[in-house]
Amino acid sequence: MNFDLTPEQDQLRDAVRALGRRYGHGYFVAKAKAGEHTTELWEEAGRLGYLGVNIPTEYGGGGGGITELAIVCEELAAAGCPLLLLVVSPAIAATVIARHGTEEQRKRHLPGLADGSRKIVFAITEPDAGSNFHRLGTVARRDGDDWLLTGRKVYISGVDEAQHVLVVARTEDATTGKLKPALFIVPTDAPGLERAKLDMEILSPENQFLLYLDDVRLPADALVGESLDAGLPALFAGLNPERITVAAMGAGTGRYAIERASEYTATRKIWGGRSIGSHQGVAHPLAHAAVQVELARLMIHKAATLYDEGRDLEAGISGNMAKYAAGEAAALAVDTAVQALGGAGMTTEYGVATLLGAVRAGRIAPVSREMILNFVAQHVLGQDKSY
Ligand SMILES: Cc1cc2nc3c(=O)[nH]c(=O)nc-3n(C[C@H](O)[C@H](O)[C@H](O)COP(=O)(O)OP(=O)(O)OC[C@H]3O[C@@H](n4cnc5c(N)ncnc54)[C@H](O)[C@@H]3O)c2cc1C
Repeated sequence: MNFDLTPEQDQLRDAVRALGRRYGHGYFVAKAKAGEHTTELWEEAGRLGYLGVNIPTEYGGGGGGITELAIVCEELAAAGCPLLLLVVSPAIAATVIARHGTEEQRKRHLPGLADGSRKIVFAITEPDAGSNFHRLGTVARRDGDDWLLTGRKVYISGVDEAQHVLVVARTEDATTGKLKPALFIVPTDAPGLERAKLDMEILSPENQFLLYLDDVRLPADALVGESLDAGLPALFAGLNPERITVAAMGAGTGRYAIERASEYTATRKIWGGRSIGSHQGVAHPLAHAAVQVELARLMIHKAATLYDEGRDLEAGISGNMAKYAAGEAAALAVDTAVQALGGAGMTTEYGVATLLGAVRAGRIAPVSREMILNFVAQHVLGQDKSY
């Protein structure tokens, strides 16, 4: 058992931390309030190689694994810059294309994903299917060599920043019975693809969209992989990286909030010479949140290690547990930090209430806490499937 990062991973962590701190939460909030994107931070992270750490070197990446990408996600979040598109573009899209795309797709998309010049977002959720992916209704049908895609997607992050969206559909001849997914790389400016921005109560420079696909015509090579059989393994390939990196983002956000609050409570004195942090009613909730965040980090480390060793099934269990633990810990940490700061906790200046919406969403997306509990009950505890 080894809890240490390698010297290279240590260096990566320190370098990403330094980059994140140079931008900081003030930058993240200012961009969100102005309705702008964190383009400068994204581009710099891309130039420095942080967005491609998990992409194979032959396609311009760093040749590392999800452990490295989780470090990037956690450290940027710990600096107050939790970037959801890290989860979507390098974690999901790059993994799916690297592991299951054709050689031509790898060559076309991975170098841009690695240097950050290209973003590919991910669309699986549908209004009438929600957590039940077996009900996906976006249909792909053949028209000569082409594909025609029709359907609706909801809450799709980052469509306004991306060149492509990885759309999960089902083929027309498989509209009944078990889901046999097919994944398509769809240009965001494809004719027939319309989007509507959703008003979300999350302070973030990243936006969510409703997507309408109305006979979107795609060439044969938009299908991920050599054949329709690539769909299911390709979809599963994205799930573990998604859960592990979103968990890392949650853990980083939790660390950020606890750090902000601890600095404040250690120095604020309103009862004579003692700091408010000397009162256990203030310090214990922060300490409790710190324990929860650290426990989540341990499970993230385990899940990422298993994943990078190719132990996908075990990584699936640990990844789901890590996502659950980090989602809960992040929400607890931010709420506790707000309370410890008193009125200051609700100001923009102190930069913790600004994260309330994001951490609350982290208990719902990309997979809800209930669906993780269903998974654990079924696959760890051996219970019958309840749905
Ligand atoms: C900020 C944000 C960003 C997102 N980004 C993306 C994105 O980029 N791409 C994308 O495809 N999707 C995205 N999503 C969608 C997200 O993955 C879904 O919201 C999530 O999977 C839940 O689906 P739903 O909203 O349809 O809820 P529903 O499935 O309708 O569930 C509603 C509630 O019922 C519970 N529930 C449902 N079924 C069961 C059951 N069998 N047992 C117990 N409880 C159950 C759920 O846990 C939830 O609490 C995003 C969502 C948010 C909030």
